[in-house]
Amino acid sequence: MYVCHCGINIAATVDVEAVAAFAQTLLNVVVARHYTYMCSDPGQELIKSDIREHKLTHVVVASCSPWMHEPTFRGVVKEEGINPYCFEMANIREQCSWVHKDRARATEKAKQIVASAVAKVALLQPLEEREVGVTPAALIIGGGIAGIAAALDIANAGFKVYLVEKEPSIGGRMAQLDRTFPTLESCLELLGPRMRAVAEHPNIELLTSSQVVDISGYIGNFQVKVRQRSREEIIEFDVGSIVVAIGYDHFDARIKPELGYGQYPNVITAPEFERLSSPAGPTAGKITLNGKEPKNVVFIQCVGSRDQSVGHEYCSRVCCMYTAKQAHLVKEKLPQANVTIFYMDVRTFGKGFEEFYDRVRREGVRYRRGSVSEIYKRGNKVVVRAEDTLLGEPLEMEADLVVLATGIVPRSGAQGIAELLKLPRSPDGFFAEAHPKLKPVDTVNDGIYLAGCCLGPKDIPDTIAQAKAAASSAMIPLSRGKVKVESVTGVVEVETCAGCGICESLCTYGALTRDDRRGIMIVNKVLCKGCGACSAACPSGTMILSHFTHDQIMAQIEAMLEW
Ligand SMILES: Cc1cc2nc3c(=O)[nH]c(=O)nc-3n(C[C@H](O)[C@H](O)[C@H](O)COP(=O)(O)OP(=O)(O)OC[C@H]3O[C@@H](n4cnc5c(N)ncnc54)[C@H](O)[C@@H]3O)c2cc1C
Repeated sequence: MYVCHCGINIAATVDVEAVAAFAQTLLNVVVARHYTYMCSDPGQELIKSDIREHKLTHVVVASCSPWMHEPTFRGVVKEEGINPYCFEMANIREQCSWVHKDRARATEKAKQIVASAVAKVALLQPLEEREVGVTPAALIIGGGIAGIAAALDIANAGFKVYLVEKEPSIGGRMAQLDRTFPTLESCLELLGPRMRAVAEHPNIELLTSSQVVDISGYIGNFQVKVRQRSREEIIEFDVGSIVVAIGYDHFDARIKPELGYGQYPNVITAPEFERLSSPAGPTAGKITLNGKEPKNVVFIQCVGSRDQSVGHEYCSRVCCMYTAKQAHLVKEKLPQANVTIFYMDVRTFGKGFEEFYDRVRREGVRYRRGSVSEIYKRGNKVVVRAEDTLLGEPLEMEADLVVLATGIVPRSGAQGIAELLKLPRSPDGFFAEAHPKLKPVDTVNDGIYLAGCCLGPKDIPDTIAQAKAAASSAMIPLSRGKVKVESVTGVVEVETCAGCGICESLCTYGALTRDDRRGIMIVNKVLCKGCGACSAACPSGTMILSHFTHDQIMAQIEAMLEW
């Protein structure tokens, strides 16, 4: 039994020496120690040498959350020949030292947690570590820059890639942009070679005008069905891993009718400005409205972002910079135009961004800190009514053209993909990563990864960086050729199971089916993730979760109640 100080994370609030001394008195405990960092090399060595010297069969470490270091300590005991499932972790950091101030009471609670873990570990049985083979292919859903970058990395590593895009062509939103901040390169020139590389790559099967309609299976062995609209055909194939890159939608500016979008033709959105300014757009890149060049151009930032009234509290991260870029393009094409930007705060956090913001201001673009309350029509012009939030004064400004910096919102089809892949979404509607710090492109479902704006707003370099990270994670099972599957699974007591099916209706992983011939439930141990929902719901107590059996849990509760 080992008690970790975690530096002062635990030791400042919990008397670790007292907890170790207490642990030494518990039944079955042969050796109890405390150490500054149990996860460090010397900490791990301490456990290993004790296992050898005292011929230990089970180990408990009282430290942080199992999310952090359970795999570390399972590896330590395994190296010394103990089954990794004969190890138990007691969380005295997140569930004790971090949430309490009173040292004496926190120490008592830590003792209870340790007693409970020791009671359980004595009942733990070795579990088999299992592996299954992997189909060496990946599915990418969405052919924007994220999907393209991920597909090329995986295909270049020698694996088969199925790239499914719902539109007739790949390229996504980037293909609709003019130039990119802060370097002002043409988006189409940057994207074109990558789109060609995808189309010509021998390892990439590009399925455009297509949508995934069904996915079953698990990491290493997913079965995919895709409907191709152009042929009305269903295509079926197997893959080992999946990258979701379905991107984003634009905030609908009509939701803020006070800004006049949809009522006045000279109020447009930022994506519409991109088309207007693009050489491939309707005016061949000339900034004109009804054939006339605007003299007074106003940009309004944060339309649909950082706005509780429309349910989007988050910052869309790209609007400050694309507005600076668009203002620069107006000045470049119409040097005599007066350009004003109404902003809340200017966020220029990326490489070269602050320099670009300075450059745009030197070019004569005027930034006014203001909150716009209304846009109304006066003759051929529109009037922007706002409050200058620095001066605290109301103001009105006439404009020939108003551009609304509309924010980035989740794809309208995201819920369908979430249901298909059983992916949770965060409260803002974007897909949720498995852990915001430690697993930023993983999902809670093994073998499924996320990239680009479907995770949240970001610019092109961040999108590509994430796509490369997702591709590299997706390639781990493909290159290993085998994946470990969960050892902690549901187990049916065949003698007592009545086959009622309650567990099947609760299993989100599709791991339970009824054997009609025998009248009992069957667990697919590859699909089972060991969540325990079946075991908790089973009316007869027939469904057991290995590693969390009724006896083990009762022993934990009883040990806690004794103290
Ligand atoms: C006005 C504006 C200007 C911008 N300017 C810049 C700039 O200058 N520089 C910069 O770095 N960033 C800029 N950005 C940000 C940039 O657009 C994004 O970073 C980038 O496009 C994100 O790419 P993505 O692949 O994640 O998403 P997307 O480009 O949205 O691609 C997603 C793809 O998935 C497809 N798809 C969606 N659902 C499905 C489905 N169910 N099945 C199959 N396919 C599906 C879509 O059709 C699309 O092709 C700008 C954004 C806006 C709004």
